[in-house]
Amino acid sequence: MTKLRIAHLYPRELNTYGDLGNIITLVKRLEWRGYEAEVLNVERGEPFDFSGADLVFGGGGQDSVQVAMGEDLCRRGEELRQLVSDGVPMLLICGSYQLFGRAFTTVARRVVPGIGVFGAETTGSSRRLVGNIAVDSPFGRLIGFENHSGETVLEPGQAALGTVRMGFGNNSTSGKEGAISGNAIGTYMHGPLLPKNPALADHLLLSALSRRHGVEELEPLNDELEHLTARVAASRPRGPSGRG
Ligand code: GLN
Repeated sequence: MTKLRIAHLYPRELNTYGDLGNIITLVKRLEWRGYEAEVLNVERGEPFDFSGADLVFGGGGQDSVQVAMGEDLCRRGEELRQLVSDGVPMLLICGSYQLFGRAFTTVARRVVPGIGVFGAETTGSSRRLVGNIAVDSPFGRLIGFENHSGETVLEPGQAALGTVRMGFGNNSTSGKEGAISGNAIGTYMHGPLLPKNPALADHLLLSALSRRHGVEELEPLNDELEHLTARVAASRPRGPSGRG
């Protein structure tokens, strides 16, 4: 059976606001089409060989957790940057997105070096950017939920994932959200992101399948429920509770 291997970065520590749902979505959308999926957990301090990884995923986490994970990630930086150069698709959310930039300075002013996949620098602020978010991107309008105090500034030349239509995104002023380097996508959208945005899930899967197995297209799935979920979220700027 045609198989994809998904490397999941620090699943126990970086998993806020349902980020694990992104992994479930990737696995299910493969299985529904008759492909096999294997999820390989990357754990802090343990060896991991990325050469077999077809897709890399990392979720969000609190500042304190990011300090420890950032150190471990930096030891794997060279390997991960090589994967990006090789066109391996990646999805990095919030805390992971910040660590894939150049550096993250926490609210407590601790500097956590990143691995520099994205030309982006993040600084914690006293204000939290919270609520549902809509972003126009090359993968259509994406809907997610953001909750971060870090404000990310992209360097000149670093492509953003898209333009914010509702919510904040990278910071409170730029109107831009996330970053794209090669097939690596960084974003502040949790929620989780992929169940509400099947086109993005399929983009990641097709990139991985075509790279490893020469697959040229994916069988369409019935995404009515996914689109309904996205529409409901998009109609509630401050999130499900109405309180943000
Ligand atoms: N600790 C980071 C921040 O608040 C990331 C939070 C998250 O991953 N949700 O900016």
